[in-house]
Amino acid sequence: MRLWVRKMTRVVEKEITCIACPMGCKLEIIRDEDKYVIEGYKCKKGLEYGEQELKDPRRIITTTVTVKGGFLPLVPVKTDKPLPKGLIFDLMKVIDGMSIEAPVEMGQILLENFQETGVNIVATRDLPEKILKK
Ligand code: SF4
Repeated sequence: MRLWVRKMTRVVEKEITCIACPMGCKLEIIRDEDKYVIEGYKCKKGLEYGEQELKDPRRIITTTVTVKGGFLPLVPVKTDKPLPKGLIFDLMKVIDGMSIEAPVEMGQILLENFQETGVNIVATRDLPEKILKK
């Protein structure tokens, strides 16, 4: 008698949580022989998110920038598009060294086209100048 044993080739490479909506579905990136398959998504947006995570993971970054002469010392900022994950540390180093003059307007671009990615850093609130008492 000849016994055929099928080799197990499906391997869960990575488990991620879809952040494309508040449902937070658990996605699995599975290596199946020489290709990757994404499972666990409940809609097209989830599949797109899984494919993006597999090929080129990106994140929206939120942080603060130092403001000189402002009503407050820091203004909250964010990237206007998701940034490749590999560039987050470089971006944070640049932002840590930044200092801008008040006033700042919500939506104002404070850093343009970071490393030719097309990603800008924008202010997420107005920050008027400090009013000096007489
Ligand atoms: S897979 Fe679809 S339903 Fe699930 S979290 Fe992602 S976007 Fe929402």
